[in-house]
Amino acid sequence: MPPPLVRFAPSPTGRIHIGNARTALLNYVFARSQGGGFVLRFDDTDRERSREEFVQAIEVDLAWLGIRPDVTVRQSAREAIYAAAAQRLRDIGRLYPCYETAEELERRRRLQQARGLPPIYDRAALKLAPADRTRLEAEGRRPHWRFQLAPETVHWRDLVRGDSHIDTASLSDPVLVREDGSYLYTLPSVVDDIELDITHVIRGEDHVTNTAVQIQIFKALTDKPVPAFGHHNLLVAAGGEGLSKRTGALSIGSLRDSGIEALAIAALAVLTGSSHEVHPIVSLAELSENFDLAHISRTPARFDPAELKALSQRTLHKLDFESVRDRLAAYDITGFKAEPFWLAARGNLETLLDVADWWRVVEGEIEPVVEDRAFLQTASESLPEEPWDETTWKSWTSAIAHETGRKGRALFHPLRLALTARETGPELAKLLPLIGRAKASARLRGLAA
Ligand code: GLU
Repeated sequence: MPPPLVRFAPSPTGRIHIGNARTALLNYVFARSQGGGFVLRFDDTDRERSREEFVQAIEVDLAWLGIRPDVTVRQSAREAIYAAAAQRLRDIGRLYPCYETAEELERRRRLQQARGLPPIYDRAALKLAPADRTRLEAEGRRPHWRFQLAPETVHWRDLVRGDSHIDTASLSDPVLVREDGSYLYTLPSVVDDIELDITHVIRGEDHVTNTAVQIQIFKALTDKPVPAFGHHNLLVAAGGEGLSKRTGALSIGSLRDSGIEALAIAALAVLTGSSHEVHPIVSLAELSENFDLAHISRTPARFDPAELKALSQRTLHKLDFESVRDRLAAYDITGFKAEPFWLAARGNLETLLDVADWWRVVEGEIEPVVEDRAFLQTASESLPEEPWDETTWKSWTSAIAHETGRKGRALFHPLRLALTARETGPELAKLLPLIGRAKASARLRGLAA
C-alpha cells in the first residue's frame, strides 16, 4: 500500500472558519498518523468569486494552525486537464449537452413538485435530435453539459460512517460544464483526485451525495482504484444551526486575533464530536496518536466558543518556554528572565495577549497600590540583600510576620498590591526574584518603579 495522500480543497472565496479548519486538520492529522502527504488544492474555477487575497489568507491560516502542505495546486491553472477529461466523457457518451434555461428548469421542478414527484432532471435533452440542437444553437443558445448517471446503487465503505450507499436514481444528472465553458466543482475535483493520486478523500458529510456521483465519474475516467472516502460530521453552533452563516467571528483569523491558541483549535477540531474527550495538547503530533476516523461520531458536533476559550487557556498553561520563545520575543520578552518569567506567569494568562502586562510588572514600571503605608515601610526595611531566589519570598514574609504579627491575607495582600498593583496573579515567590530588590523596595515605598 502506498502511503496515503489526502487533500484539503477550499474555495478561495472567503477566509476559512473553524468548520473548514476542522476538515483541514482531520485530513492533516490522518495523513501524518500514517506517514502520508497533504495536498492543498485551491478550488478556484469560479473566477468571479475567487480572490488572490483569500488564497494567501488561507495559506497563512493553515500555516498558523501548523499545517504544512507537501504540495499546493490551483484548479485555475489546470483547466486544460479538465477540458481533456470532459472530452473523454463526451467521447464515451456520458456527457451530454442540455439547452434548458434556469427558468425552464425551475418551471419543470415546480410542476414535478405539484404532482408529488421528486425534482429530478427528466433528461429531456437526451431526446433531442441533432436537428433540434442545431436549431437551438441557431437561436443563440449555448449548451451546458450533464453527466449521465448510470442507474445503480453506489456503495462505499466510509471511513467515518461505515457501509454507505446511494441510489443514483434519486439524483439528477449533474451539470459538470456551464454554458460559458467553465467547470462546476464536481468534475475538476475528480480529475485532480485521479491525477494527483489522492488515496483518501476526507470531507464534510454535506458531500455524501457528491461521493456517489464522483465515484461514477471516477470510474468512467480511469481504471485506477477509487480513493477511500470519509465524511465527517459537521460542526454546528450551540443552537444547532450551521456555522457557515457566522463565519466572521469564527474565522481562523479572528480567533487568532482574539488570542486563541492554534493548538486549542486543533485539539477542539479533531477531538470534538468524537469518542475522545477534548483535552489540551502541546503539539499537533499528539493528535496523530490513536487517531482513527472511525472515532468520529455520526451526530453533529456542537461548537461552543466558551469551550474553545477555556481550552485555549488550559493549552497556554501547559506550553513550555521553547514553544513560546519566539512569540514572547515579539513582546520583547527576552533575556535570562524570560524563561522563569514564562513559567511563573503562564498559569495566570487567559490569552498570550495578557503576557505584556505581567512582563511590565517584572521589567517595566507600574504604579503600586498602597493599602497600608506603615506596614509596607516595615516590609521594605525587612527586604533581604540580593541575590534572591524562590525561597526569598518565604524568608522575607516570615520576617515581616514576626515583626508585625500579621498573617494570611492581612500579611500578603498589601504586599501583592504594592509589588504588582493587582489583586491576584502569579505566585509571588516566583515573581519577587524577577522583580528584584530595587523595584520591590521602591514600590513598597509607594513609588512608581
Ligand atoms: N471546494 C470543495 C468545498 O469547499 C471541496 C470539497 C471536497 O473536498 O471535495 O466544499
